[in-house]
Amino acid sequence: MEFQLPARLSLANLPTPIQRLERTSERVGRELWIKRDDCTGLELSGNKIRKLEFALAQAMAQGCDVIITTGGIQSNHCRATAAACARLGLGCELVLASDEKTEPDGNYLLDELLGARIRFIPFTDYRSRLAEVLEEVKAELAQRGQRGYIIPVGASNGIGTWGYFEAMREIHGQEEAMGATFDAVVCAVGSGGTYAGLALANAALGLGKRVIGVPIAADAATFREQILGIREEFSLISAPVELDASDIILLDGYVGRGYALSTAEELSFLKDFARTEGIILDPVYTGKAMRGLLSELEAENPLLAGLERVLFIHTGGIFGLFPKRHQF
Ligand SMILES: *Cc1c(COP(=O)(O)O)cnc(C)c1O
Repeated sequence: MEFQLPARLSLANLPTPIQRLERTSERVGRELWIKRDDCTGLELSGNKIRKLEFALAQAMAQGCDVIITTGGIQSNHCRATAAACARLGLGCELVLASDEKTEPDGNYLLDELLGARIRFIPFTDYRSRLAEVLEEVKAELAQRGQRGYIIPVGASNGIGTWGYFEAMREIHGQEEAMGATFDAVVCAVGSGGTYAGLALANAALGLGKRVIGVPIAADAATFREQILGIREEFSLISAPVELDASDIILLDGYVGRGYALSTAEELSFLKDFARTEGIILDPVYTGKAMRGLLSELEAENPLLAGLERVLFIHTGGIFGLFPKRHQF
C-alpha cells in the first residue's frame, strides 16, 4: 500500500533488539520473544519516544517553541517529552494529575531535573476538563509571546500513531533478517496509540499477524472504541486503512485494582520474571500485560490458539517502579 510518511526526527536508538525468552518459552511451550523498546534511550526510554519523533517534528514545523502535554504523576510519556524537549531546546509544560503533593521520585523527579515546568491538577479536572486546562496553558504562553503545541495523553493521536506504524515495519525488517516470522505481536494498552499503530500497519501492509493488546486501565470495549477513534484520525493523513473492530484482539481481566495501582500478585509476578529472564518489567503496563499474556496462553484462550512464535513489546516504564519500593 502506498503511504506518505510524515516528517520525523531521529531521537530513539533504533532498531531495538529482539531477544528470545528462553525459560519462559519452555514454560509455556511456545516461542516467546521480546522487543526491547525499553532500550530506545535512557531518559527517552520506552514507547513514547517513537510517537514523539513524529509529534515533535510536526510541532517544530509549525514553529512552536513550547510543548504542552499531560499524564499521571508517574507518566513515562511526560518524562520522555521533557527529555526530548531539553534535547531539542524546546520549552516543556507538564500538566500532571495528582490529588496530593508528593515528593519528586521516579519519572516526576526526572521531569524536574530535565527542567519541565510542572503544574498539578486534581483527578476530577483531569477526567472532566483536561482539554480546557491544556488550552488555558497554551493561552497563557501566547500572552508571554510563546507558541505552544499540545500533545494529548500518551501522544495517542493520528500523528503519534505513526511511531508504532513504523515500529511494525521495523519488526518486519527484523523478521526478514532473522528468517523467521512472528504470528502475533503483543503490547500493553494504556492510551491505545501503540496498539493502533501496530494494528494499522499490520492491516495496511497485509502482514497477517494477530495484534494482541492487554488493557491496563479500562475494559476491552472501552479501548476498542478508542482504537477505532485513532484509526479515524490516522486516515486523515494517509490512505484510509481497513481495520475492523473484530481485528482488534484485547485480553480483558488484567487491569487489577486500576490504573497505576498494583496487587501483590502483580508485583510478585514482576519479581519472578526478573529472576527468570533478567528483564525488569514495569508495574503499570508491561508487568500487567506480560502476566496477562502468559496466563491466557496457559489457560488456552482460543484467541491465542495456534500461535507458535509470539513477540511481546517491552514498552519501558522502569522509572515507575521506584516509587513503589515500599510495596515489595
Ligand atoms: C504509555 C505506555 C504504554 C501504553 O502505550 P499506549 O500507546 O498509551 O497504549 C505501555 N507501556 C509503557 C511503559 C507506557 O509508558
